[in-house]
Amino acid sequence: MPDRTTSGAAVFAAPSAGATGATGATGATGSASTRGGPSTSAGLGTAGAGAGAGADPERGPALNLPRVLGHNSLREQVSHALRAALIAGELRPGVVYSAPVLAAGFGVSATPVREAMLDLAKEGLVEVVRNKGFRVTELSESDLDQFTEIRALIEIPVVTGLARTAPATDLAALRPAAEAIVTAAKARDLIGYVEADQAFHLALLGLSGNPHLVEVVSDLRNRSRLYGLPSLADAGVLAASAEEHVQLVNALIARDAATVEALMKTHLTHVRSIWAGRE
Ligand SMILES: [Zn+2]
Repeated sequence: MPDRTTSGAAVFAAPSAGATGATGATGATGSASTRGGPSTSAGLGTAGAGAGAGADPERGPALNLPRVLGHNSLREQVSHALRAALIAGELRPGVVYSAPVLAAGFGVSATPVREAMLDLAKEGLVEVVRNKGFRVTELSESDLDQFTEIRALIEIPVVTGLARTAPATDLAALRPAAEAIVTAAKARDLIGYVEADQAFHLALLGLSGNPHLVEVVSDLRNRSRLYGLPSLADAGVLAASAEEHVQLVNALIARDAATVEALMKTHLTHVRSIWAGRE
């Protein structure tokens, strides 16, 4: 499965990850424990034709949006890609994006884009601009600090605890998802990176057996902004940083709770300082 992750589109289908991430807000836990190729393959199959047709990465206009596939409905696929584009900073606050322009970027019709945008609007991630489109909700520095603070309070102890409690097979099953992040980083596929990162972390947290916790973190992640990603990728730092996920899986499998805790702390610090582009 990791070998399918060389393009942005493939990253969407990557690991159970794809499936887990898609339903991240509603039930990532189930997907994490029943992770499986079968559902992912099915998703790929149904979206396969569209993927082939939209295979030209130069197809979009100014926007660098990923092709979408691997999720159940087109609306879901577009919604997923829009969230990642928002986090990676491809869509910026203050700019009004019309559904037809975004649709052209994705190579789909405007209707699923409009529907997906309305889903995002319900969550407060974008605002509807009447007769024009959508505007990304602006976040303050303290908002981002506070989101990260909550994530640290949840993610560090929960993931550290998994070093003791999670079944070895479940931990080992996360390896492809961790490697997908590295693959996306090396390909300088930023939106794919955000997607794969999201999928990995939610699947990992899903091993806690607490879907509500996964939902809270999923929501916080959707509100985070990683505007520093392009400069990190340019400097070649992103791939090295992506390796932290593989190290995390190794430490979890080794039941090395101290290393897991240290890695999670470092990781969340990255998210806020460098990755948010305020270095
Ligand atoms: Zn990460």
